[in-house]
Order: sequence, then structure tokens, then C-alpha cells
Amino acid sequence: MIRQKIVAGNWKMNGSKESVSLLVDGLLKMEGSSAQVVVAPAFPYLSQVSGMLSGSHIVLAAQNASDQPKGAFTGEVSTSMLNDFGVKYVLAGHSERRSLYGESDAMVAHKVKAILAEELIPMLCIGETLEERKSDKTLEVCERQLNAVIELVGIDAFENIVIAYEPVWAIGTGVSASAEQAQGVHESIRKYLSTFSVSVSQQSQILYGGSVKASSSQALFAMPDIDGALVGGASLDADEFIAIIKAAG
Ligand code: PGA
Repeated sequence: MIRQKIVAGNWKMNGSKESVSLLVDGLLKMEGSSAQVVVAPAFPYLSQVSGMLSGSHIVLAAQNASDQPKGAFTGEVSTSMLNDFGVKYVLAGHSERRSLYGESDAMVAHKVKAILAEELIPMLCIGETLEERKSDKTLEVCERQLNAVIELVGIDAFENIVIAYEPVWAIGTGVSASAEQAQGVHESIRKYLSTFSVSVSQQSQILYGGSVKASSSQALFAMPDIDGALVGGASLDADEFIAIIKAAG
């Protein structure tokens, strides 16, 4: 099964009107790619970036969303608001949200449900900490994080969910999982999904995230179960990000 590669840039809490404009300008100069290119700016820049991307092949993502449709939730942003600004993908369960803002598996699952209800595509982030890897719990953790979502929205909903395997120990540390390590986990995740639905497991796009750089991307993308990357730090540099996109074909 040929799955289209996705290369997504998570800009996190970085940028200014000016730097965002320069970065998007740089990306727009890139020639077409066979990969789906996605950028996730911070909320205040969604409108600016959405305008700049209109008519281009690059699509917009948001880094987070509320699980509630509207109302008295100060500081929150709903999925319908994101839809208003041309957002297509929404990250759910990024490890920084889980660890720094206390998002539980259940909260993440409700966010995924709200994102799907707006016909947007969740990028569901899962992955183990260093402690969990050392105690051989990588798959147990990934399966637990997946189960919370499967139980709430059902396996068929995964036809419209992108999974990002992001080992916490590799995020922002400069230490990427090796291509073989990542492939091993991706293969296991796909196998786990196949216990619910073979067709979903074959179609699911599973991205790798955690210190992806141009220099490591080719080996990662050559792996049969790695369908692209969720890139943090390296996506803030247009040249580096373009090199990663090119590695995806
Ligand atoms: P990193 O971040 O590429 O800077 O490690 C990845 C992510 O958090 O999605």
C-alpha cells in the first residue's frame, strides 16, 4: 500500500509577524513535492499564514484545540474557530501538552473527537519517556495512548487520523531515534492497529517526530512504516525544512 508522506512543521511558541512571514515566503519558493507539507504556527499567526498559503500546496495546522464547542472557557480555542481560518490538521496529545499542561489520555481522546467532529484531521501524538523506554514499556505506553482514543471514537475514525510517534526522549534533545528504532515501533503500532482493522492499519499514516533533521530524514523516510515526520526545531529554518521535505520525495 502506497501512503502519501506528510512532512509537518510544529513551530511551537516561536516566531513574530516578521519571522513567520520570512519563513513562509521561503517555503513558498520550494517547488512542488510529492509529500503533503503542513505547517503549524502559534494561534496568533494562523490568519497571517492562512492568507499567505492560499492557493499553495502547503496546508495549515494548529498546535492544539479545545474539546469543547464554545462558551465560557477562557483562553481556549475551538475547532470551529480553527476551521474558520482554513486549518486542516490539529495536533492532539503532543507530549509537551501531556507533560506540561496535564493533558490525560482521556482529555486527548476528547480533543480528537472534537477535531473529527469539525471534519479536521487530528495528528495524534503518542510516545514513551526515557524511563518508560528503559523499562521496556514503549509499546505498552503507545497502546494505552491509542486505546483511549479508539475507545472513544472507534477504530474506523482512524481512517481520518494521522498518528505521530514521538518518543519524548527525542523531542528537542538533538537525540533522534535511529531509523531502525523508529521503524521497529512504527511496525508494532501498525500491527497493533491491525488487531482492530487490517485496512485501517494499512492506510494509517504514521509520522515520526523527535529531533528530525535533514541529515537524518532520508534514512527515516526509507523505512517501510514511516510515512513522514513531525518536525519541531528544524522546521523553523526554511532551508532545513525544505531539505527534509525533499528527502520525502
Ligand atoms: P523537535 O520537536 O523536532 O524539535 O525534537 C518535535 C516535536 O515536538 O514535534
